[in-house]
Amino acid sequence: MEVRIYIMIKLQNVERSYKTGAGQTWVLRRIDLSIREGEFITIMGPSGAGKSSLLNVLALLDDQWAGEYWFGEQPVHEMKRKERAELAKRKIGMVFQSYHLLDDLTVQENIDLPLSYKDIPRGQRQGMVAETLDHFQIVAKKDLYPNQLSGGQQQLVGIARAVIHKPALLLADEPTGNLHSSQAKEIMELFTKLNREGTTIVQVTHSEVNASYGSRTIQMKDGWLAGDTGNPALAQPGSAAGAGVAPGGLQSGEAVGS
Ligand code: ADP
Repeated sequence: MEVRIYIMIKLQNVERSYKTGAGQTWVLRRIDLSIREGEFITIMGPSGAGKSSLLNVLALLDDQWAGEYWFGEQPVHEMKRKERAELAKRKIGMVFQSYHLLDDLTVQENIDLPLSYKDIPRGQRQGMVAETLDHFQIVAKKDLYPNQLSGGQQQLVGIARAVIHKPALLLADEPTGNLHSSQAKEIMELFTKLNREGTTIVQVTHSEVNASYGSRTIQMKDGWLAGDTGNPALAQPGSAAGAGVAPGGLQSGEAVGS
């Protein structure tokens, strides 16, 4: 029986740099990465390795990079800013460490926000919000404001808002960075559930425990991809092949991790 694997995202030779003074600082170096539909990927690496920069490229929040970015059959690198924004709105949900909820909107209004930018009839919108509140078991909190919730509950709302439009791809930047371990566990169990329901997930985390919920771990160092459990050809640092992948970036025996 033929099993078809769909590539959702393909990055080829993606680079990102910032002008600093007279020079240039490189934050992403020759990134080649394929993300298959249904994967749950964790990006790890020391602070400053480029994890958030990579996530921002994937999220289409950044458009100042070079190289090729394919979203399915669509060449993102050839799109105009408006087309990229449209693609992001339809296909991508984003979760942040600091929740990014609007303080003067209730839980229900925060969750409705992404729908309010779309051409969806009011009745249908209300139905989607009710269904999401129920799915996330936060119906009782719907009229509360973010500052009346615990951190874990605020992040649940952040995730509910990110997935209410049923994005194919959910991106999360240190989603449990501000949470206790029991709250983090709840968030990771929710990610597992969303992944099983078909959402492809890419999370950035320093936590080995969080990484253990994923199906593939990518290591970054100094802007380079330095390891990938889904791509044995990208050797772990310390080996001769690893040094070849990241020229000048890695020392023999140097650990890469959180
Ligand atoms: P990580 O998420 O792995 O901690 P980041 O992607 O946030 O790393 O940052 C990677 C590098 O890019 C860091 O060295 C950081 O200082 C640099 N960087 C990020 N934003 C800017 C900016 N606006 N200007 C210059 N350098 C930046």
